[in-house]
Amino acid sequence: MAADPLVDVHVHLYPDARSGQQAKDRYVIWEYGDDPGIEFSASTGDLTDLMALYRQAGFDRAIVVHLFDTALAQAEAMTRLAFSGAPGAGRPDLGPAPAGPAAAPCALRPAVPAGPAAAEAMRAAAEAMRASNRWVAAVARANPLIEVLISIDPTIASPDEMVAHLAELAGAGVRGVKLHPVSQVFSPADPRLFPIYDLCCDAGLVVLSHSGPGHRGGASAMPAEFAPVLRQWPRLRLVLAHLGGASWPETAELADSFPQVVFDLSEIIEWAGAPNAPSAAELAGLIRHVGADRVMLGSDFPWYDPARTADRVAGLPGLGPAERAAILGGTATRFFGLEVAA
Ligand SMILES: [Zn+2]
Repeated sequence: MAADPLVDVHVHLYPDARSGQQAKDRYVIWEYGDDPGIEFSASTGDLTDLMALYRQAGFDRAIVVHLFDTALAQAEAMTRLAFSGAPGAGRPDLGPAPAGPAAAPCALRPAVPAGPAAAEAMRAAAEAMRASNRWVAAVARANPLIEVLISIDPTIASPDEMVAHLAELAGAGVRGVKLHPVSQVFSPADPRLFPIYDLCCDAGLVVLSHSGPGHRGGASAMPAEFAPVLRQWPRLRLVLAHLGGASWPETAELADSFPQVVFDLSEIIEWAGAPNAPSAAELAGLIRHVGADRVMLGSDFPWYDPARTADRVAGLPGLGPAERAAILGGTATRFFGLEVAA
């Protein structure tokens, strides 16, 4: 008998160990409350680490949901401009690269100052985002284990630019887009995204978005905020990451109202038992309410270890073997139309 497929739909990949470690240091996870003793992965998320870990654990596919750090790219561009003597250039308002994990919650992206230098920094950041997406798309083309959703940020590129870029890379095999409304600071229903939703519907591309509350009044991505999008694009293949995160009590209602939306359980499964997270029993209850055929394994590698996340799924109380198999890979195989070896 063939083994059930094993698919991780929430993976991050970095060009090298330094940039992977930098991403982990900059991304502070605050929404679940006090850390109840989370086991973080020591991996830095480069390609060597990813391939070794996923092969060893027997994964059929790792779906990279690429996240471009817009704030960092803008800050770096402003610094370059300051050194080149551009008027109005400087870095302080964009936030310096933080020294450690506590320094820069992802949701605290500072306001971008107006002026020609800031506009130039934004253009540079948009170009860096496109280059980063082209890099990760090329990695996926060269590695059958990997599929990619590219990073799209409507705050730095125009709708026309984003559509052209996505169309280019969809032609080169990317499966859709990853959105992070909280760290990139926009609403899921931002009209600048409408042409992207149109293209994804027309081309059958997937939209996977971070979901969860905002930080200290910053942009949020609560489940209910996706309702207008699902109403306007009923055929959109939308995945909400983290099952709503710390706004998980809203998730069942959205799932009931929109049977087409699916979810990944990344991060929330690691934080089960934290003050603003469900207990393991509550998480299993939510998954059963939504339906295991709408929930997919996600590890958020390299923050967490994919094999251990798969073990956690297997350990959720009250799930039957068919439900576990669906979450571990059956749902993702069907949703993404993956061909996995029998
Ligand atoms: Zn993630």
